[in-house]
Amino acid sequence: MIDFALSRASSPAEASEQAAKSKTAQQGAQVRYVAGGTTLIDLMKLDVETPVRVVDINRLELARTERQPDGSLRIGAMVRNADLAHDPNVVRDYPVLSQGLLSGATGQLRNMATTGGNLLQRTRCSYFRDLAYAECNKRTPGSGCSAIGGHNRTHAILGTSEHCIATHPSDMAVAMMALEARIHILNGQSEREVPIGEFYLLPGNTPNLENVLKPGDLITYVTLPPPVAGARSHYLKLRDRASYEFALASAAVVIHVDGERIRKARIAFGGVGTRPWRSPEAEHALEGKAADEATFRAAADAALRNAKPQRDNAFKVELAKRCLIRALTTVTT
Ligand code: SF4
Repeated sequence: MIDFALSRASSPAEASEQAAKSKTAQQGAQVRYVAGGTTLIDLMKLDVETPVRVVDINRLELARTERQPDGSLRIGAMVRNADLAHDPNVVRDYPVLSQGLLSGATGQLRNMATTGGNLLQRTRCSYFRDLAYAECNKRTPGSGCSAIGGHNRTHAILGTSEHCIATHPSDMAVAMMALEARIHILNGQSEREVPIGEFYLLPGNTPNLENVLKPGDLITYVTLPPPVAGARSHYLKLRDRASYEFALASAAVVIHVDGERIRKARIAFGGVGTRPWRSPEAEHALEGKAADEATFRAAADAALRNAKPQRDNAFKVELAKRCLIRALTTVTT
């Protein structure tokens, strides 16, 4: 780990002001915020992240979850994953989010990890995290990709490019994708709101750019739209072992069945995409159809139609399909 300066922010605006001195808010940022530290500190120990300044934001008053007058739920960026998973509003109205959070990491990590930090988790691609491998376009733009042609069993099959095939590791963000969350960002005195579907970038030619954050941006809140009356939701995660493991495939399902027909469906996948993966193809295949196995299979086929597996991960195509079918079956029976 390299030497770095540590400062503490007492307000969101002060934190933003310090981070605005960085040239980028992406890989190679000179200034990083630290909250729970469950991603950043690991990467600093590995010298993958080498900020010259780390701004401690633990004192910011962003640790509350509040129901808004319009029925939406506002979640502070500093709300810990464990607190959010057990929040009565979340358990009752957004079970997909509670289940997604509880499927991630361990109790100890969930006690530390924050809502804002979870959104910004970095990939678990082992080449990215190991400086012994020089070829990693995400870590060092233009250097190549060790995973393409290397060990890629856990890598992505959707949204990949010839420059990067790394998966996004978050469960929480997958659930939020299906819930159509909105991310609130402060920069100095100005605020903006970004739908989560527009927050993450595909790797394309620039896998080092993972989201729309700019220097000085600070995630302050996430809002969840009011729950749809009659809708049900579920998160199913498939992995190599039952705990403390990332998804090989996961599915977040929010569905409203009216009589025999599916009126509304919101579907997202984890473990298979280069970003938390919303699937409009699956949603289109579900809406207006009967809630039965044939419909679920058609939706799963549609969702994975454009999958591009690598040498070691072709199994993820069928795994993701079965994951979605089982999640839909669970939530509609
Ligand atoms: Fe780096 Fe992405 Fe290739 Fe992994 S998949 S080695 S993160 S460029």
